[in-house]
Amino acid sequence: MKYGRTFNFSAGPAMMPEEVLEEIAAEVMNYRGSGMSVMEMSHRSKVYQEIIDQAEADLRSLMGIPENYKVLFIQGGGTVQFAMVAMNLLKDGVACYVETGAWSKKAIAEAKKFGDVKVVASSKDENFSYVPDCSDLDIPENCDYVYICENETINGTTFNKLPNAKGKVLISDQSSMFLSRPCNVSDYGLIWAGVQKNVGPAGMSVVIIREDLLNDNLAPTTPVYLDYKTHADSGSMYNTPNCWAIYCCGKVFAYLLKNGGLSAMEQRNIEKAAILYDYLDASKLFTATVRKEDRSLMNVPFVTPSAEQDADVVKATKTAGFDNLKGHKSVGGLRASIYNAMPKEGVEALVAFLKQYEAEHC
Ligand SMILES: *Cc1c(COP(=O)(O)O)cnc(C)c1O
Repeated sequence: MKYGRTFNFSAGPAMMPEEVLEEIAAEVMNYRGSGMSVMEMSHRSKVYQEIIDQAEADLRSLMGIPENYKVLFIQGGGTVQFAMVAMNLLKDGVACYVETGAWSKKAIAEAKKFGDVKVVASSKDENFSYVPDCSDLDIPENCDYVYICENETINGTTFNKLPNAKGKVLISDQSSMFLSRPCNVSDYGLIWAGVQKNVGPAGMSVVIIREDLLNDNLAPTTPVYLDYKTHADSGSMYNTPNCWAIYCCGKVFAYLLKNGGLSAMEQRNIEKAAILYDYLDASKLFTATVRKEDRSLMNVPFVTPSAEQDADVVKATKTAGFDNLKGHKSVGGLRASIYNAMPKEGVEALVAFLKQYEAEHC
């Protein structure tokens, strides 16, 4: 690859489109005649206001976000959202969570600090290798919201059909699938995504929230930064935002628009994932761990028959010039994260490598 870059299969922070990195590099010393880098610029300046406005406008057109939804750029990464969702939306009722793996478990644990939580479905019985049937959940009348992690980054599952939330507010953590396929925003009350998986640099989340869910009656001890209304009322500028991340994400939004939008991304992602899954399904050495109909297009976990062999493959991939293929420490094995920015050639090269490894070791 150009610049001696590697095919980086990291789950996050992860690859960004090369063209976007080149644009950023070209602007880093002097952003469009402003005499300074975006890193050095006042967030109150006109030139920065244009950057954040354009980023929001491009995201709105990419996803077709309806006018009654706010787009917020909030610092702190995904983990802050586990708390913010519950602090803002769990009132006197019960929050219903679908437990599908590592990230929904963390969300559940955090929400329990703020009120009643009910796990309405789980795939724990089979090591989170599938998405449970959510067509007829037992949702109590006083349910404040139904929460899912739409793509479990570590376990490699994805919802291909949204739960039947029975008229209650649906909340989705889309961190590791954000902008990977078209999304009908009005199916949700709130969507959030940590941007370092499929968009830009770490340290920020995008939150898309239906206006009527902004809450005027939060506990008086709620920190001002953790109130969605603070960000909605100030155009994500209550304090200094993550200017750099917003700028980089804006570049990616524009890049996606220029390259056919989310339908084109979905098409590419389906093709890319099929190259890898088809090989894994035919292989005598490797096994994809997730049930076919629930497989993620973004994160592909797979194993050999033994932990020793897994480690040997990981080592060999490194020698061959691939990076970050080790599975998450909580599940072991291997995992290839193949987000929007991973070129098809990267997946093809990985499959060619795995094939050769298999031929040599079986
Ligand atoms: C990475 C990730 C998170 C947590 O993000 P941080 O920015 O590291 O806090 C939450 N949910 C999902 C689905 C993730 O992939």
